[in-house]
Amino acid sequence: MGEPSDKRPVIDVDECTGCGLCVDVCEQEVLDLVDDIASIVNAEACTGCGDCFDECPVEAMVMQ
Ligand code: SF4
Ligand code: SF4
Repeated sequence: MGEPSDKRPVIDVDECTGCGLCVDVCEQEVLDLVDDIASIVNAEACTGCGDCFDECPVEAMVMQ
């Protein structure tokens, strides 16, 4: 698991394929698929670890 940081994932909805890999990798259950697009559903639990970003195969996430 990545180190905590102040950064947070931002999803490019035009690039997201809805594969769900980021949802599965997030141990904090911050993410879920909403209408087949990754969405942040529990923002306050995010540690900024970047694991979701690392997992995305199509670079539909940025940490900022
Ligand atoms: S940065 Fe870490 S805690 Fe935050 S949504 Fe991604 S995997 Fe989950
Ligand atoms: S890993 Fe990337 S493409 Fe897959 S659901 Fe998450 S943001 Fe979308």
